Formats: sequence, structure tokens, C-alpha cells
Amino acid sequence: MMTEVDRVYFQDLLRGQLHFLRGEAAGTAAGMNGEPAEFPDPTDRAALESDRSFDLRIRDRERKLMWTIHEALDRIHDGTFGVCEDCEARIGVERLRARPMTTLCLDCQSEREAEQRRCERATRHR
Ligand SMILES: [Zn+2]
Repeated sequence: MMTEVDRVYFQDLLRGQLHFLRGEAAGTAAGMNGEPAEFPDPTDRAALESDRSFDLRIRDRERKLMWTIHEALDRIHDGTFGVCEDCEARIGVERLRARPMTTLCLDCQSEREAEQRRCERATRHR
């Protein structure tokens, strides 16, 4: 059973990460505004374009991460945080400290990863 101390600990941890990400996302977004300076060299221009798509990928990843953190906070709120969504076993606090956003216990996680590897292999040989 998760103690009140654990609950507060994870809530603070997740809120801190969310706060940090919001700052990061704002920074990336600011960099997106304003037209780029003139680059007479087409190579520079291409480099700039690929920089932009890199920025977009980062922002996409940040959005997904923020969403995952929000979900974890919701789970803390409704009391399902730290419960494996597959087998409903308690996820160890040690594991949660390392990966606070996880929704699976170690067994189910390894099972899913093995399953994923099997699928990937099957796809490759098709
Ligand atoms: Zn499980």
C-alpha cells in the first residue's frame, strides 16, 4: 500500500517535471516565432529547415510526456497510481521512483516488451 508520504513525494516529483517541461516548451515555442534571417547560402537554409523539424519533434515529445505526467497525477488523485494496469498488482515504490509514469509492474512490462519484439520480428519477415 502506498503511504501518504509516498503520495506526496510522487505528486511533488511529477508536478516538478511538469513545471520544468512547461518552461522548456515555452522556450522552444519562442524560438519558433519570428521569421529566420536571410540565408543566401541554400545549405544554411536547409540546415535551418531541418532544425525546425527537429524543434517540432521535440515539442511533440514534450506534449506526449506532459500528457503522461498529467495521467500519472490523475492516478495519484483517484488512488490507482502504482497499481499495475494489467494484473492490478502493486508496483514497487523503488520502480516508481525510477519511472514514476509507469503503469505496469516489472513482470507485465517485460512481457509486453517481449511481445513487442515478437511482433517486430514477425513484421520484418513478412
Ligand atoms: Zn502487472
